[in-house]
Amino acid sequence: MDLGEGLRQALAKISRATIIDAKTIREFNKELQKAMLTADVEVPLVFSLSKGIEEKALKSKPPAGLAPRDYITNIVYDELVKLVGASYEPVLKRQRILLMGLYGSGKTTTAAKLAKFYQDRGLSAGVICCDVSRPAAYEQLETLAKQANVAFFGMKGEPDAAKIAKAGSEALKDKHVVICDTSGRNALDPALISELKSVNKVFAPESKVLVGCAVIGQVAGRQTSEFDAAVKISGVVVTKMDGSGKGGGALSAANASSAHVLFIGTGERMKDIEPFNSEKFIGSLLGIPDIGGLVERVQTAITDAGINPEDVDIEKFNMDSFYTQLKALNKMGPLKNVLGMMGMSDMPKDALEKSEGKLSKYKIIIASMTKAERNDEKLLHERNRVARIARGSGTTEQDVRELVSDFNKMKRQFHMMKNDRNMKKFLTKMGA
Ligand code: GDP
Ligand code: MG
Repeated sequence: MDLGEGLRQALAKISRATIIDAKTIREFNKELQKAMLTADVEVPLVFSLSKGIEEKALKSKPPAGLAPRDYITNIVYDELVKLVGASYEPVLKRQRILLMGLYGSGKTTTAAKLAKFYQDRGLSAGVICCDVSRPAAYEQLETLAKQANVAFFGMKGEPDAAKIAKAGSEALKDKHVVICDTSGRNALDPALISELKSVNKVFAPESKVLVGCAVIGQVAGRQTSEFDAAVKISGVVVTKMDGSGKGGGALSAANASSAHVLFIGTGERMKDIEPFNSEKFIGSLLGIPDIGGLVERVQTAITDAGINPEDVDIEKFNMDSFYTQLKALNKMGPLKNVLGMMGMSDMPKDALEKSEGKLSKYKIIIASMTKAERNDEKLLHERNRVARIARGSGTTEQDVRELVSDFNKMKRQFHMMKNDRNMKKFLTKMGA
């Protein structure tokens, strides 16, 4: 189970709570701790987080009209964002960046990715291979630099990293951004520390960046502290966020030093790198990719769709209201994540997923139904009706049955949610 899944499950467990008392919070915190420890977040971090949540949740009362679950989600979100630190806004100016890290952390890949990142934004960029310990380091970076279309400097066979750094700085002095790749180790040792120090001296970088991969989990925290103590790092790049499934490493690394997470690596391709956005990171862990924009989108969608909450009555839920709802839900963007988080797993997902085509198809199919059929979907179990509607709308029987199936899913979900007291207020807000 990954961290996000664990967190979402913990949140799901409190969904039935109607009041927030010490017991509810403690139970929730236990789940949260379990999820985070499983995801390899460092123990002290886990405890400080759950303490923060407990204090905040018990000290203040949820604002009127807010379900306990939404309230706690909000607190958890705030605390997690605080924990991972601020988002990073890359500066587009002349700069030298020294990358360090252990074997396989993704230094060499990141060097080329970063150079491309800046070059794509209008700066010229180059990379220097100062990895003097791995035999094929030179060729690897040379190839990646070619792929990324950035300048490359290296001295094959030269054992002195500082010497390469010096010559490389000279050779690439016209480039706005110069990134230096260095040797790795299985663990930070005195020889590497002294090599990094001497490269640092001649290269004189504006940023000293530790590259660590998310997969290593809580070891990331220790690693960050060690590098920080040895060569004072100014930032961290967390790679392999795509494959980790855990995400705990990033949390630990982000918290282990005063250095912030600058970028995250999200794949092996040269474009798979993005500036760290703490809200997005936590949001996607919790299953709410854009928490801030969500409320706004919900409001806009309701207004745009002209839904009056009083109008939609589950007893009278018919094909017309189905279409209106689907249209409104479609406008809300990444809604399926929120629905998933709220346990509404059975919503017709692909119908929600950006499907203008499907929507207009549904519109035509519904228009081909008789008034009676629109108000009573049970009639649509009859084969000859389905065939007639398909013919009349120029679609297939399969299309018609799919619509009926999506309709039933939505109706079922709405029914369940209406019976859920916590969900009621949210739904009223949503206009369902
Ligand atoms: P180094 O030893 O620190 O220089 O690490 P490398 O740059 O050689 O990367 C080690 C391996 O990790 C390579 O196979 C890379 O393709 C892979 N890698 C690096 N960054 C990422 C990432 O963000 N996502 C994924 N999936 N793989 C990555
Ligand atoms: Mg390397």
